[in-house]
Amino acid sequence: MPDPVLATLGVGANLGDPRAAVLKAIEDLAQLPGTVTVAVSSLYGSAPLDADGPDYVNAVLQVRTALSPDALLAALQAIEQQAGRERPYRNAPRTLDLDILLYGEHRVDRDDLQIPHPRMWQRAFVVLPLAEIAPDLVSPAHVQAVAGQGLHRLDG
Ligand code: AMP
Repeated sequence: MPDPVLATLGVGANLGDPRAAVLKAIEDLAQLPGTVTVAVSSLYGSAPLDADGPDYVNAVLQVRTALSPDALLAALQAIEQQAGRERPYRNAPRTLDLDILLYGEHRVDRDDLQIPHPRMWQRAFVVLPLAEIAPDLVSPAHVQAVAGQGLHRLDG
């Protein structure tokens, strides 16, 4: 396996018990081969953006991983599948959504994988949790750009 890279991942859920789904995903991510968890944000609640359904629970975490971007994406999709995700239509409510936000300084621009995640800086549920665990990555302009999006930190 190659040298480990610091990857930033987004976790979101809004069906069933979304808090439990997010916490389980964070546990599952820590079990991935060649991967250690470096930092985990608080859990946040947000109203769906361009999507249906009840409020989301979101978190952002950083892992140091020896998995390649493709292997990491496959692993995230396997965890999503295990969580019983169904995708009847685009942006449908989902049990669990896992995104690769950043993979070191690496860039990928393919149909099936874009890194950095192209919409990460437009989403308060990414920017604010990321500011909590990696403030060096988030500028005041990033925070300003998502001001006004309803996002609240959940207790515990
Ligand atoms: P979504 O339904 O929004 O979770 O989109 C899932 C699709 O996005 C998958 O088929 C992935 O191949 C694709 N995708 C592109 N870039 C990324 C990324 N950085 N992280 C996760 N999925 C991605």
